[in-house]
Amino acid sequence: MQRLNIAIAGCGPAGLASALLLHRDGHHVTLFERFDAPRPVGSGLMIQPTGFAVLRELGLDGALLDHGARVDRLHGEAGSSGRVVLDVRYAALGKRAAFGVGVHRAALFTLLHQAVAAEGIAIETGCAVAGSEAGAGDRRALVQEGGRQIGPFDLIVDALGTRTPLAPPCGRTLAYGALWGTLDWPENAGFDPAALEQRYRRANVMVGVLPVGRFPEEARRQAALFWSLRADRLEAWRAAGLDAWKAEVAALWPATRALLDQIHSADQLTFARYAHRTLRTPAETGMIHIGDAWHSASPQLGQGANMALLDAHALAQALRQAPDVATALSDAIAMRRRHVHLYQALTALFTPVYQSDSHILPFVRDRIVGPLSKLWPATRIQAAMVSGLIGDPMRPLFG
Ligand SMILES: Cc1cc2nc3c(=O)[nH]c(=O)nc-3n(C[C@H](O)[C@H](O)[C@H](O)COP(=O)(O)OP(=O)(O)OC[C@H]3O[C@@H](n4cnc5c(N)ncnc54)[C@H](O)[C@@H]3O)c2cc1C
Repeated sequence: MQRLNIAIAGCGPAGLASALLLHRDGHHVTLFERFDAPRPVGSGLMIQPTGFAVLRELGLDGALLDHGARVDRLHGEAGSSGRVVLDVRYAALGKRAAFGVGVHRAALFTLLHQAVAAEGIAIETGCAVAGSEAGAGDRRALVQEGGRQIGPFDLIVDALGTRTPLAPPCGRTLAYGALWGTLDWPENAGFDPAALEQRYRRANVMVGVLPVGRFPEEARRQAALFWSLRADRLEAWRAAGLDAWKAEVAALWPATRALLDQIHSADQLTFARYAHRTLRTPAETGMIHIGDAWHSASPQLGQGANMALLDAHALAQALRQAPDVATALSDAIAMRRRHVHLYQALTALFTPVYQSDSHILPFVRDRIVGPLSKLWPATRIQAAMVSGLIGDPMRPLFG
């Protein structure tokens, strides 16, 4: 296809990765971002083998491993009983390269952003996108808040995340969110530096510790601490004060004291809410929605950033192969749709098992599913699920 003039809205993983891929394919790319200085939001996340493959293609896998923390297993215990209810080991896949990488969002963002800057890709910051307008010849313009039109472009890539104004609202905001904090890794406190560890009480209480490696330019290792919380209880949590909360967390998992002692203000914790939504039509004339703009879910299965990277890869590949933009967009969606729908369904299924007010689901989890999941082939299926590999998403993308 000839060189296209492409606008990419949003500087998250989806936007930055697609900018790199499309620029390298010779297209003229401009990124648009509402922040004056592009910045990441939130705490830690996990890169799975799927997302890792895309970062490897971008030449960023080495840097990710330098900054992130290799994660070999996911381990969860029902707090009071000490019963192991989650024990996922990537090694069950039988592949040497199967592991996750815990990384601070700032580190992932910095890696991608530095690569974008090094390749001279234009970023227009301070640009709050409000909508788009179809123009002549299948081209489309971005509309900024205040009504200014930018473009038209041959293609707009909507990578604006779950609250994108470029697509109609859909889905629902979930009742449970989580408080997230990034703290120094507690050496000698008994945490496994190669595991995502969690403790649960029923499904309404969950605390987790994820190793996230180092911030760029810093030597100290970090951990992400998260605490599940219903959004309508956030005010009550604030009112009760930090000490009451710390006592509750430490009672469930005494080792977290080493992390809790580093928290002196509620401002060190960010409350994240999640939405479960999937656009029915992820492309229209001259525009495609990728990443969270197409599909978002709770981070229970830890797939969001990975799916965003896969979407970016699919778009670049489809544009390489198709004769025109419209065909490329439908090809890109075809490459991703099955995997997206599968993981949206799996995440919707598993989220209430860990984050809900249900009594039955955690009972079944702790007494039946937990023990069974330690047996083959459940060990392998779980590892494939966490890795993002169910539905074979790599085949259409990497052959
Ligand atoms: C607490 C938490 C934990 C998570 N853990 C994991 C995990 O372990 N593994 C995983 O894979 N995923 C995880 N996720 C999900 C993951 O973070 C998202 O799926 C991923 O960031 C989506 O990338 P994206 O580029 O599509 O969107 P985003 O990262 O949301 O990026 C959107 C970008 O668009 C910009 N923007 C938004 N609106 C506008 C506008 N109107 N105008 C201009 N710019 C705008 C934003 O500033 C941002 O830069 C987690 C999410 C949360 C909230």
